Amino acid sequence: AKKQGKNNYLFYDSAMGAAGVERLRLETDLRRAIERGQMVLHYQPQVDTHTGNIIGAEALMRWEHPEQGLIPPYKFIPIAEEIGLISQLGNWGLNEACRQLAEFQARGLELSRVSVNLSALQISPMLVSDVESALAQSGLDASALELELTEGIMMDGSQDTVVTLQSLKNIGVRLSIDDFGTGYSSLSYLTRFPLDELKIDRSFVMDIGKSQRNANLVAAIIAMANSLNLELVAEGVETGSQYQFLTEHGAAIIQGYLFSKPVPADALIPMLKERSFD
Ligand code: C2E
Ligand code: CA
Ligand code: CA
Ligand code: CA
Repeated sequence: AKKQGKNNYLFYDSAMGAAGVERLRLETDLRRAIERGQMVLHYQPQVDTHTGNIIGAEALMRWEHPEQGLIPPYKFIPIAEEIGLISQLGNWGLNEACRQLAEFQARGLELSRVSVNLSALQISPMLVSDVESALAQSGLDASALELELTEGIMMDGSQDTVVTLQSLKNIGVRLSIDDFGTGYSSLSYLTRFPLDELKIDRSFVMDIGKSQRNANLVAAIIAMANSLNLELVAEGVETGSQYQFLTEHGAAIIQGYLFSKPVPADALIPMLKERSFD
């Protein structure tokens, strides 16, 4: 029987492929990751270019895997979406981000808001009660929570999405459109949905220095956001010349390695203290 077992294993292994086995293991581990306390949020500061203060932080999820170390979101978010785990994972992130910001604020640290990324699969009426519950549990002011949505969510066109986003808006949370300009999008959603913020995608920021046309496009997006009264966040800002171009053309908030990579909550504290005493 032992021998047969071994053969079965070999058969299974070669049929599935090493990558399949690895993936299956990751799925199994991911289902237990929350209860095992392996999920963490890192925070990347968003700097107000007018004051130099950190006004917000984006919460970015990581998985502290006991054998594989820190796993980045592109390796587990798609799996969570496929195996029906994303709402649970997303809800954990929502609660953790609210709890952390409330704790910062209780300690007198100046941070006015936290942004949480949402998967398209989380957009449902249940999300509204999840958000309400995260705010109630943490005691965080609704205006201190921002939800980052992708263009795909805006484009699904269903009435349910409109209603869900309007309900979220009614609670008082901020809505931001992430990765702006990268989706198959029509611009009409910018006025159709109750948005507060637009995040210009890193790919546009990267291209600023490449040609005048690219630079003009970025300037036009900033101007559009400003005229629609949408707060503009430029993400992926890595260089001083990108920073200079963006601020000269009216970008109010900057996020990127130029200021800081995403860091654990503990590492954000000294940055907040420094800025708070300005
Ligand atoms: P995103 O929402 O566009 O987040 C920005 C990503 O760009 C982050 O990658 C961040 O570390 C990276 N980044 C920020 N500034 C710079 C820069 O100056 N240079 C470069 N090269 N990169 C920069 P990260 O943390 O690996 O997250 C990747 C994506 O995973 C996120 O893209 C988001 O779509 C997704 N994600 C992260 N956390 C969550 C979550 O809690 N829920 C969901 N649904 N998705 C998440
Ligand atoms: Ca923001
Ligand atoms: Ca984001
Ligand atoms: Ca983004």
